Amino acid sequence: MADEAFVTLATNDNYARGAMVLGKSLRNHNTSKKLVALIGPQVSEPCQCVLRMIFHEVRVVDVLDSGDTANLAMMKRPDLGVTFTKLHCWTLTHYSKCVFMDADTLVVSNIDELFDREELSAAPDPGWPDCFNSGVFVYRPSLETYGKLLEYCTEHGSFDGGDQGVLNGFFNSWATADISKHLPFIYNLSSIAIYTYLPAFKQYGGNAKVVHFLGKTKPWNFTYDPKAKQIGGSVHEATTHPTFLLDWWSLYSSEVVPMLQDQYGDLPFHSGCVELPPSDIVIVETVVQGDSLSAYALALEPQLSSEERKMKWEQGQADYLGTDSFDNIKKKLDMFLK
Ligand code: UDP
Ligand code: MN
Repeated sequence: MADEAFVTLATNDNYARGAMVLGKSLRNHNTSKKLVALIGPQVSEPCQCVLRMIFHEVRVVDVLDSGDTANLAMMKRPDLGVTFTKLHCWTLTHYSKCVFMDADTLVVSNIDELFDREELSAAPDPGWPDCFNSGVFVYRPSLETYGKLLEYCTEHGSFDGGDQGVLNGFFNSWATADISKHLPFIYNLSSIAIYTYLPAFKQYGGNAKVVHFLGKTKPWNFTYDPKAKQIGGSVHEATTHPTFLLDWWSLYSSEVVPMLQDQYGDLPFHSGCVELPPSDIVIVETVVQGDSLSAYALALEPQLSSEERKMKWEQGQADYLGTDSFDNIKKKLDMFLK
């Protein structure tokens, strides 16, 4: 149906790359649904261009600039920046039903059947199965629900500091009320399952429909040697199943990198490595040992001076998860108070 969509979110260029791979993977598995990307204003113009080629709709969401209730909510809870941006997906009321997917997910088979489910359907979280994991969920856009979510968020905050805490607090009957709202784990398979229940992973992992690279290390934090088709660095330390990680990288290198190269045309490239302007980005370059090939590398978040940070903060572009996180702000305040 034309009024159903997959929705994702990317507030910076790294997550935007994840979104590109996700969008491509949905298309490669012939979804008949629309694709929507919500992005933060920090996503660079070339990345926005590529996103517009993959997604039917790319919407810049600037919560701080919105001048509405979201803005007010944000002033009260500046630590929940990305969360407020994610909740924005409920405002896409030109769709009757949507499936939200984290930018660190990869589709490995057609999942259009998810649209047969109702709000709020999601898979259990591997860490606490009475909570749902908010990396993949079915919902119905509604301004009424959106308003209630913001209100809930402002009043109760998030028990885990992110959207999953808020959504589990709000949709708190998920665990017990209606089993049809429990998505099978294969719709949100996180690699954590490999370590916590290896026999089950061996038995069922092959049926995976969506892989979720949950946790601190994302696919884009690795390097990749496109010639040897190998992941660089220490994959053993990774919490990710190496095959899924390779799937992500082979899609990224074969279908997304060429699109980025087109956009960054006049910038230097070597073996598919995307180099962004040095003022913004720190480049990581890895030389594959015993073979002087330089591996694929990804841009890291910029390291800003305190003056640049102040400017960004004043423009409403705080680094909510990093330097400007609630914890760090609190530490600083405590220091002054002493
Ligand atoms: N996200 C984002 N920018 C950020 C952090 C998160 O756009 O700085 C979005 C992105 O869609 C991401 C989702 O929020 O997939 C949830 O965050 P993440 O996947 O990092 O959390 P995890 O699944 O590891 O708990
Ligand atoms: Mn995720």
